[in-house]
Amino acid sequence: MKVLSSSEETYRLVDQMRMEGKRIGLVPTMGALHEGHLSLVQRAKQQCDMAIATIFVNPSQFGPNEDFQKYPRTLQNDLNLLADKGCDLVFTPTNAQMYPQGHSTFIEPPSVAEAWEGPIRPGHFRGVATIVLKLFQILPAHVGYFGRKDYQQVAVIRAMCRDLNLPIAIEACQTVRESDGLAMSSRNRYLSPSERQRALGLFRALEAAEKLIQEGCISGRQVEQAMRKELETSLVDSIDYAAIVHPDTLESIETIDSEVVGIIAARLGATRLIDNATFRLT
Ligand code: AMP
Repeated sequence: MKVLSSSEETYRLVDQMRMEGKRIGLVPTMGALHEGHLSLVQRAKQQCDMAIATIFVNPSQFGPNEDFQKYPRTLQNDLNLLADKGCDLVFTPTNAQMYPQGHSTFIEPPSVAEAWEGPIRPGHFRGVATIVLKLFQILPAHVGYFGRKDYQQVAVIRAMCRDLNLPIAIEACQTVRESDGLAMSSRNRYLSPSERQRALGLFRALEAAEKLIQEGCISGRQVEQAMRKELETSLVDSIDYAAIVHPDTLESIETIDSEVVGIIAARLGATRLIDNATFRLT
């Protein structure tokens, strides 16, 4: 497995792979890798000739009061995990590589960035869209692999690719969960034992929503109330949102008449967790 931090060298290598006719899959990450990230690499391996991962804790997607400084950085362990999965190349740029002196160009994110995470994390999707576009430039892959765990992020990236005519396909991969249902996240390691237990509320709320919809409830409002009740029963510290939304536009749904997505953001102590699930009418 090759590990490169120079964007010029990385571009040359990926460009050469393309010229050799190789299909290239790209998995952007911020490191602190877990089975969720590795499942994206596995999918890239299955569908492409070359699987490439990037590890970069992107400062521009963190707000001033967020956890950029303390975000877990476990590079050597990450590289070992990626090598075990048969990853072909890892790009690990420095901050100075990605944001050189004078860097001042940013992507204005698409409208699907405006709700939910948008107002709660001002500037977050601007940072995400900018870094993802930069990575697509440096590593011109055929397919970008992203996790459904960050549902709105995938919607933002898809819309950006459509709006900017980017020649890359976006694959959204299933959320990998712990055995009790908690969605894997690099931030789970911040949770105290009590918070870890109470964090199950997010999964339980999604289960409650699924049950209600399967029983025939078609009111988005009622399902949202059931999710909130479950989050409160599980003693999450606060709820940023718990909503039933359209799978593409992410607009709130009043009457459930086709596929919908339940999206949740909640806080346990200082840790903010998100989760979601797709519900189909049976
Ligand atoms: P991050 O390092 O948090 O930026 O995540 C990198 C990629 O891994 C993103 O596309 C995430 O959506 C994806 N990811 C994070 N957690 C999971 C998970 N539990 N299951 C599947 N994909 C995930």
